[in-house]
Amino acid sequence: MQFDFTDQTVIVTGGTRGIGRGIAEAFLNAGATVIATYLSNQDAAEQFQQDVTAGSDRLHVRQCDVTRLEDVENFYKFVCDTFETFHVLVNNSGIRRDAIVGMMTEEDWKDVVDTNLTGTFTMSKLAVQNLSRKRYGRIINITSPVGKFGFAGQANYAATKAGQVAFTKSLSKEVASRKITVNCVSPGFIDTDFIADLPDDQKQQYLEQVPLKRFGTVEDVAHCVLFLAGRNADYITGAVLEVTGGL
Ligand code: NDP
Repeated sequence: MQFDFTDQTVIVTGGTRGIGRGIAEAFLNAGATVIATYLSNQDAAEQFQQDVTAGSDRLHVRQCDVTRLEDVENFYKFVCDTFETFHVLVNNSGIRRDAIVGMMTEEDWKDVVDTNLTGTFTMSKLAVQNLSRKRYGRIINITSPVGKFGFAGQANYAATKAGQVAFTKSLSKEVASRKITVNCVSPGFIDTDFIADLPDDQKQQYLEQVPLKRFGTVEDVAHCVLFLAGRNADYITGAVLEVTGGL
């Protein structure tokens, strides 16, 4: 399927590494102007800018901590001052701080909730204020099957990923009359830094659970995001598209 996002401006949070970078690259290849944000890994951000060939003049990289309201407000000010408007927001930034509940620190709980869930709320809140005026927009939240099934050692992460789905469904009902759709993409095990620190035997165990017998790629996820962001998905809202190899 060919995607065309010429004349559209797309925001991808956590868009300089991993899945976010894959999504940002796919939008660039489809002609969009892309604003990719990151938290602190400047090396990855610079590397991304260096690597991009096609559409490098349409790529804008910005530091923005989604847990800080002031950062998010400044970010949207930059977006509106520079591009006047935007069309798509992909809430992709996310972290894990794994521990069993009995051993989990309050900080590990709070950091994950602040980034994955409150970050999604804050970025979306300011987005709908802008998109409502135009009566068009797409918000796509990157959740995880862990939010549906639960996972030992990831209660904080799972709670935020389930929360993102509930948030998506609720927001989709609030903004439907403004022709804004809100959906989730739920990737299974995707080969990124996110799972790179897991022990090999654990990765092997994960792989055995995947019917299609491979980890997903960032491109697998990016294609689904572009589909939901495109005009062919006009009638889809409040949905969760699973990209899990059948997990
Ligand atoms: P990575 O760890 O590779 O990248 C995470 C990105 O989020 C980085 O760009 C990071 O910025 C950014 N980020 C972290 N904290 C903040 C913050 N406070 N403010 C702004 N940006 C922040 O993760 P993945 O690419 O693997 O995962 C992306 C999304 O996909 C996450 O939401 C994750 O939950 C979800 N997911 C991933 C799966 C996987 O198997 N990989 C499976 C299912 C879901 P910086 O580069 O500066 O650190």
